[in-house]
Amino acid sequence: MDVDDHAEELASTLGVDKAEVKSDLQNLLEYSVPIDEAKQSIRRKHGGDSGGSGGSPTSRDIADITTEDGNVTVTARVLTVGRRSIRYQGEEQTIREGELADETGKISYTAWEDFGFEPGDSVTVGNAGVREWDGEPELNLGSSSTVAVETTPVETPYDVGGETDLVNVRAGDRGRTVEVRVLESEERTIDGRNGETLIRSGVVADETGRLPFTDWGARSDLRESADLRFEDVYAREFRGVPQINLSEFTTVTPVGREVTVNESAPRMGIGEAVGSGGMFDVEVTGNLLEVRDGSGLIERCPDCGRVLQNGQCRSHGDVAGEDDMRVKAILDDGTGTVTVVLDRDLTETLYGGTMDEAMEQAREAMDKEVVADDIRDTVVGREFRIRGNLSVDDYGANLEANEFEETADDPAERAAALREEVGA
Ligand SMILES: [Zn+2]
Repeated sequence: MDVDDHAEELASTLGVDKAEVKSDLQNLLEYSVPIDEAKQSIRRKHGGDSGGSGGSPTSRDIADITTEDGNVTVTARVLTVGRRSIRYQGEEQTIREGELADETGKISYTAWEDFGFEPGDSVTVGNAGVREWDGEPELNLGSSSTVAVETTPVETPYDVGGETDLVNVRAGDRGRTVEVRVLESEERTIDGRNGETLIRSGVVADETGRLPFTDWGARSDLRESADLRFEDVYAREFRGVPQINLSEFTTVTPVGREVTVNESAPRMGIGEAVGSGGMFDVEVTGNLLEVRDGSGLIERCPDCGRVLQNGQCRSHGDVAGEDDMRVKAILDDGTGTVTVVLDRDLTETLYGGTMDEAMEQAREAMDKEVVADDIRDTVVGREFRIRGNLSVDDYGANLEANEFEETADDPAERAAALREEVGA
């Protein structure tokens, strides 16, 4: 079924205008809402949701809003307003996204129209649709919603405005303000949705951490070692880690002070780091439990770089593989586990020899596995400190190591401290 068919079906069951339903449906799909969820949201909007109240929207405390709600009315303080342009039906449209909060909690919203509210305003939002995003309820403010300004400020424990440290940036954050130093920056031409587009990308840092960024406006003031304030940026996931995005709505100004950059990465428990959904630069310490198959001497596809299984690439079939070395190992700190991936350089260091020497050893033994076995004997059961990029997806958590070293302190002591920390 295409969008037209879905709209037809919805319009006839709900007894409403098909053009309106189709437009709503396209809005939601453009915003990457899955089709079933989009249809459910439209059913709710028109009171056709069998599970919902079906009546007029009820006033709710934010903490009480659930994904089961149809439409709600909330009185809240506006914490953040981020603007972003999206394209649907071939047209650019500006949407506003951010968070609303009251005394009980906070909730994300998307506004499809400009209701004119700013961070700090207290408002009553009437007839806001509730939709599910990543398992959490979110508010959808459309043409049937109303926004009234409240003269009495709504009390909330949350900070107004999007000021944040880099270590606290999560994919999905919107309307954020950060003060950073540009560490790396280069212009690139990409094949974007408007054809060839010049962008600027690199890495920014503050006292708490570092993150990759993309400036879709390719501003030249984002040069290396500039100290800048970005207002109204959003974060989304790119290759498993959060990335700062600067849009046409982002303002960039000199910060007027030197931003201190921490040379070391934030240190975290593995459970907490994995729970964050991915981090560009993080340091964890744990016990190396296992060196997985596919470690040591491996062969990669010359076309796509995938590791070959029995000489076969998953995409390209029978190819002449290129030799490489790597380690995939399981690290555990009592709070969680992560698969650590070491590149050739780090693997050679761990092996204590070059790849040529490893191949020589494998030839003599007439078995490639001897190299992985050697590495296994050296590292399993020992404790390591690892710094790198953590990505988390449905298949698990991978930490691509940039630094890898055995810890000097007593593992027993650390284990005891950790057990105390997790209350075990
Ligand atoms: Zn391939």
